[in-house]
Amino acid sequence: MNILVQKFGGTSVESYEKMIKVSRIIKEYKDNGYDLVVVVSAMGRKGAPYATDTLIQLCRQVNEDVSLRELDLIMSCGEIISGSILVNVLKNIGIDSVLLTGAQAGIITNGKYGDSTVIDVDVTRIYDELSRGRVVVVTGFQGITKDGEITTLGRGGSDTSAVIIGKGLGAKFVEIYTDVDGIMTADPKIEPNAKIIKNIDYDEVFQMAEKGAKVIHPRAVEIAKNGNIVLRIKNTLGSKEGTNICSYNVTNIDSYKINDKNLITAIAHKNDIVQVMIKNCKDDMFTDILNEIEKNDISIDMINFFVGEKVFTIDANKLKVLKSILESYNVDYDVVANCSKVTLIGSRINGIPGVMAKIVKALSKKGIKILQTSDSHMTISCLINEKDLKDAVNALHEEFGLFEK
Ligand code: ADP
Ligand code: ASP
Ligand code: MG
Repeated sequence: MNILVQKFGGTSVESYEKMIKVSRIIKEYKDNGYDLVVVVSAMGRKGAPYATDTLIQLCRQVNEDVSLRELDLIMSCGEIISGSILVNVLKNIGIDSVLLTGAQAGIITNGKYGDSTVIDVDVTRIYDELSRGRVVVVTGFQGITKDGEITTLGRGGSDTSAVIIGKGLGAKFVEIYTDVDGIMTADPKIEPNAKIIKNIDYDEVFQMAEKGAKVIHPRAVEIAKNGNIVLRIKNTLGSKEGTNICSYNVTNIDSYKINDKNLITAIAHKNDIVQVMIKNCKDDMFTDILNEIEKNDISIDMINFFVGEKVFTIDANKLKVLKSILESYNVDYDVVANCSKVTLIGSRINGIPGVMAKIVKALSKKGIKILQTSDSHMTISCLINEKDLKDAVNALHEEFGLFEK
């Protein structure tokens, strides 16, 4: 079999017209002899009638403290709606296809509502349908536990569904169709001079995704790397080649020789972050606080612990719970709300002097205050006020010559 998995994101299936466009892409590949599995997201983005956010709101509007089990059930409907329509659009152009839910497609999850991990995939049913010559449309973003509970894979999780299925079927490629021309040097919605990166290594794109570049889910990249699956990111509406994500030794690109111009590969950003500073807290009490934080599923980031002061960041949606924990321990704390984290990613920055100096120079020239920094072997992150985000990305994009890529 010549198996190819193609995933179409929310904007790619947001309307009947877009689905026709999708069906033409599918037909072209089918006519060229591919056995296709097509993973779909729910229709459209926030505000669209059947988008995931709309379904969430239906439950949240009656109870802010929503039941997570039922939230997963309602969220799983979004992909069922889009997949059902797509099968009928395909039928209109003479393509025999069938829709499988995550459960019917054999995607087994660990049962964590709202953010499940896939622990197994049994592709027998998908394989049977492909053997009959059908295009198999699969609902992204969902699976089922061994006990029959439907769960979702975390926001943006349809990418993960596509790669998991690709791995299960032994596919060499998975194509992710979206509304941009590929992985770019920064989010094109923020940086007008962002350039397409034609080839990028799994590790760099994983860091981009982890640090907020929505274009691909980090778990999808991780699984693709482990399964040695090449990911191609393409625009549903364009004919451009897009981005290939694989290992350097496969791509063998000249530009990977280090020079000043390609030190940084891309800039990612994340909004809705809160900086937290806890003061004068004894170590045993702080240990208890950290345990409570973990129990409440709050992930902390940009962690800087000093003798007198503990500084870290959290996602803004966890602030209410964190405050109640800190108040129950009666500790002195401050928060800075409305922050963004801007991260420079480059697998070659490790040990290269002067990168931080360039960052500080670029941001201070624009009067942007750096609230905190953190770094790893291939990333440097700066916490800034959200109001400065666009200026910061633009300044860093220019400083590191990313527009020349
Ligand atoms: P889909 O619904 O197709 O899954 P997403 O909204 O999840 O689409 O991801 C695509 C979006 O990712 C783009 O519209 C773009 O604004 C955003 N994005 C953020 N960073 C990048 C980047 N570096 N390259 C390309 N797109 C990016
Ligand atoms: N529809 C889901 C979401 O909006 C999954 C996805 O689009 O990948 O998060
Ligand atoms: Mg997405």
